[in-house]
Amino acid sequence: MEYNEEDFLLLSGIQHFSFCKRQWALIHIEQQWQENLRTVEGGILHEKTHDNTIKEKRGDLIISRSMAIFSRKLGITGACDVVEFHKSRDGVTLYGRDGTYKPVPVEYKRGKPKQDNMDVLQLCAQAMCLEEMLLCTIPEGFLFYGEPKRRLKVLLDEEIREQVKAICQEMHELYDRRYTPKVKPTKGCKACSLSELCLPKLCKNPSALAYMKKTISEIEVDE
Ligand code: SF4
Repeated sequence: MEYNEEDFLLLSGIQHFSFCKRQWALIHIEQQWQENLRTVEGGILHEKTHDNTIKEKRGDLIISRSMAIFSRKLGITGACDVVEFHKSRDGVTLYGRDGTYKPVPVEYKRGKPKQDNMDVLQLCAQAMCLEEMLLCTIPEGFLFYGEPKRRLKVLLDEEIREQVKAICQEMHELYDRRYTPKVKPTKGCKACSLSELCLPKLCKNPSALAYMKKTISEIEVDE
């Protein structure tokens, strides 16, 4: 199956979705957003990497910043922080360049490497978009973390690709139904940028309707 352009979802939502499906729905279906320190810091880091006035060519390496990407198979669109094109015999041709190049996506993250695989999923989705656009295979990419100022090589194997496909499919299903999942409080709620909008504690309380029904039935019993 292939998606039409007007049905594309934002690739960046994969991270929100794997953190919390409700957070994703609040942002991407209900268009709610709230800044906190983490999102502001992350934004500043991305502003630097997304300054596409910077063009770099270092020997056999071309560095492209903020490259727009999409996948019709996954139905997503977004941008890569950085795509490195390494001159290689088994690479792809690039418009206006001699020779062939192997594309390698590099995603920039503030802070330290995480325990979960959210960053890997995002990077893999970028690679899958590039593969579809450039007709190539991209077996690996890199995650650069701001705190250790180091980049880690990530192998993009079949297992992680299947996870990306499943997440994109589920995002489309929820989006088509305009369905926001109910609150399921987790440890992640403390760090969630939408906690004040989502109100996980309040949502755990009974609804006003349930409260009124209970109160009315208590009054009837007393009478
Ligand atoms: S506060 Fe918790 S349940 Fe609500 S969107 Fe954030 S992570 Fe999800």
